Parts: sequence; C-alpha cells; structure tokens
Amino acid sequence: MKTFYIETFGCQMNAHDSEKVVGTLVEKGYQQMAKPEDAELVLYNTCSIRDKAEQKVFHRLQQFKYAAKNGHSKKTFGVLGCVAQQEGERIFERAPHVSLVVGSASYTKLPELLIQLEAGNQRVTGLSLDTNETFDTPFTRRDNPHRAYLTIIEGCDKACAYCVVPFTRGPERSRTSESVLREMQSLAGSGYTEVQLLGQNVNSYRDPSPAGLDFARLLAATGEIAGIRRVRFTTSHPRDFGRSIVDAIGEQPTLCNHVHLPVQSGSSAVLERMQRLYTRDDYMRRIEWMKNAKRDIAITTDIIVGFPGETEADFNRTIDLIDEIEYDSMFIFKYSKRPNTSALAYEDHIPEDEKTRRFMILQERQRVIQMRRNGKYVGRTEEVHVEGYNLATGQWIGRTSQNKTLNFHDVELPAPVEGRTLTGQYLDVLVTRAGPNSLAGHTQTLLQ
Ligand code: SAM
Ligand code: SF4
Repeated sequence: MKTFYIETFGCQMNAHDSEKVVGTLVEKGYQQMAKPEDAELVLYNTCSIRDKAEQKVFHRLQQFKYAAKNGHSKKTFGVLGCVAQQEGERIFERAPHVSLVVGSASYTKLPELLIQLEAGNQRVTGLSLDTNETFDTPFTRRDNPHRAYLTIIEGCDKACAYCVVPFTRGPERSRTSESVLREMQSLAGSGYTEVQLLGQNVNSYRDPSPAGLDFARLLAATGEIAGIRRVRFTTSHPRDFGRSIVDAIGEQPTLCNHVHLPVQSGSSAVLERMQRLYTRDDYMRRIEWMKNAKRDIAITTDIIVGFPGETEADFNRTIDLIDEIEYDSMFIFKYSKRPNTSALAYEDHIPEDEKTRRFMILQERQRVIQMRRNGKYVGRTEEVHVEGYNLATGQWIGRTSQNKTLNFHDVELPAPVEGRTLTGQYLDVLVTRAGPNSLAGHTQTLLQ
C-alpha cells in the first residue's frame, strides 16, 4: 500500500481541489495519512495570492530538507497549486528534494504523473496552462458529509493589476450546466443538503453546452434540486454581477441570501489603476439592487489597502464607502507585490507601516459596523445549519443563510451524546446576544 499526506493552504478553491486530488490518489491505490511523518508521498497544495502565503510552503519544505539530504528520508515531495504553477521548475533548484510540481490546470493529468513518479522519475511536472479542460472527478473525497463544494468555473480571464491568479490558474473555463446539475443531484442523493458553488468569478460562468445557461439561470436551477436546502456561491466579480442574480435569490429561498462582492477600493481612481473594470458608481448600483431585494441579503467584501499610489484621499473614499454600505463582514488585505503582475511597474509603492495603519483603521471601523448590524438580529429567530459542537464553550455552532455564525444552546440536546448529534440538522434558533463576529442564542423547537 502506497501512502500519502496532503496539506492545503489558501482559498476554498484549493480546499476543494485537494478533495479531488485525494480522491484521485485513493482511486490509484494510495492511502491517506494524518501526519507527514507516516507518509511516503508528501504533498503541499499551495497558495501564492500574497507573499506570506507563498513563503509557507518553502518553510514546510525546509523542515524536511536536512533529513532528505542526509538520506534519512525516503519520502517523495510534491508541490501542487498556485506556487507550483508560478515557480515551476525553479522549485527543484530551491528545494532539490521535491520530485513533483503540478499546477491546478494540469490536475487531470495526475494519474499519468503519478505513474512517472512511481517509476522513479525525480523531476515530474505538470505546468501547461494551455487547456480548456476542468478538473471533474467522480472520486472526489469530500471532508464534510453535509456541506459540499462544487466547482462550476476555473481560471480567470480578468487582469487585475495586483493579482497572480490569471498566471497560476489559467484561462477561464466553465463546466457544462448538465455536468454541474448532475453532480449536484448526486450530492443530494448522498445526503448533502448544502452546496457551495465555487469559482474565481462564479458569475462569469458561461455554459459551453447548447443549453447556454448564464450564472443566474444555473443558480436558479441548482436551487430547485430536491434535497438541497442551501446553495451558496463565491466569488462574484462586480463587473459581471447582473440584477438577475439578485432576482433569483429573491425568488428562491434555497439560494442563500448572502453575496460576497469584493470591491477592493472605494476610490474610482484606484479601481481604474487596479484594472477592476468598474467604477465606484457601478459598484454602488449593484449594492442598491441588493438593498432593495425581496429578501434581506447579507453583503460581504474584500478590500486591499496600500495599493501603489493610494493617497489619503483615496483611502478616505474607502472609509466612506464602508460607512455607506455597512457590510456584514469583510476581508482586509495589505497590498502584496506579486510576480508577473502589472502593478509591479507602478512607482509609488506605499510603505509597510502605512499599509498597517490603514489596515487597522478599516478593521476598527468595520468592527463597530458589524457590532451594530449584528445587534439588529437580537430577538429574531434564524434558521441555522448545525456545523458542530464547541467543547470549550459548551455550545453548538450553526450558520445562518446569511453566513453568520450563530452559537447556541439546544434545549433538548445540550451536548452530543453517544449516537446523537445535531450536526447536519436545520434548527430554528432565537438570537439573544450579538458580537461583532457572531450571534448567540438558544433553540425553541426542532424543525424537522
Ligand atoms: N476573483 C475575486 C475578485 O475578483 O474579487 C478575488 C479572488 S482573490 C483569490 C481573493 C482576494 O485576494 C481578492 O479579492 C483581493 O482582495 C486579494 N488579493 C489578491 N491579490 C492580492 C495582492 N497582490 N495583495 C493583496 N491582496 C490581494
Ligand atoms: Fe484576481 Fe481579478 Fe481574476 Fe479576481 S478577477 S481572480 S482579483 S485577476
């Protein structure tokens, strides 16, 4: 029996890619191990969105370098994902004990690459970006038995000035609507009730089959599959975000009322230099659609502070944008220089401590907004999908359709006992308290 270990860094796309890689390896007779020490093949599925993320894999590889050099280790190492694609064969120079380097656009070739590796080849690569294939496999090993990821589109055809993704994940390619819906039906058949549709820009989805569905129509179709109670999707690009998506959410309760719509900056001048393809006004129009929707849609975003040339006035535009929109949550990033990207050529880079200052200002501002927004839920009853139990706090952890964490006490089952758990169930929970990052409450009745 051949054994492997995999560690995954980065986004949900990577987490789901790893589930597919694990499935492929298991199908080829490999056994997954919980610790790298116990595995013959050690794989890292990597992220290069920011410099810090990229460095993590080199730290990991460094930990094994000495053992490998001194012949104490018979392990084979592989680097997968975005760092693999970005660094390519340079990884062999930097970490000579690595034998496999594969970018995500080559995962369909994994079975043949494994054969080369098993034959003793020390330099096996899958680095071509020239593909119109997506990586779909019936062998996917999903980590969670209730909530599943499902890729609908891979790669990215945009060219944001700061972003490495188009260079690491290749051109945009959509799966056929038929294959997406078939996988979704099979997930429902296996007991999954919540599915998250994934893509760098899900709403750029273009069905390559004659059915020709756009994202809103695909979304509506997924929401109608029997047995599926919740459909989420991430990420949406503001340029391609149409009103029909808001309408679909308004009409179909199985579609979660949460949209992650990364704005990056509140200044149109910065957005233009970022090559984001929309202005602040274009973005605000989309926010208006959501604020006027039939259902109460939670809106979240990503913001980059300290993009080259971002002035104090530009930064203030971001502050007044978040004050105006009042996001439910946001990820704030300090701009990080990335190889190949056009922003590298910009001259006026912002010092690190200034990026940190802006980061902290936004973080504090947003904390107050979230406190206020979450406070409005106190006294309301929200349906949660139960994700697990927190031993430390003695509470169940649930998630609302709006993607808010709701920690709660259950009147019938205060803690899991042998053979009984609430995980995977849908319950009505009365919200009694709110913090900036979560809600708390207790159940009254069991829904199902
Ligand atoms: N496709 C999505 C979009 O266009 O909004 C974003 C996908 S990207 C993987 C996730 C987030 O990482 C981006 O929204 C951006 O805020 C952040 N990001 C990307 N490149 C960055 C960089 N060079 N420095 C800092 N943050 C970055
Ligand atoms: Fe990166 Fe822009 Fe593509 Fe998003 S749309 S993945 S930020 S290049």
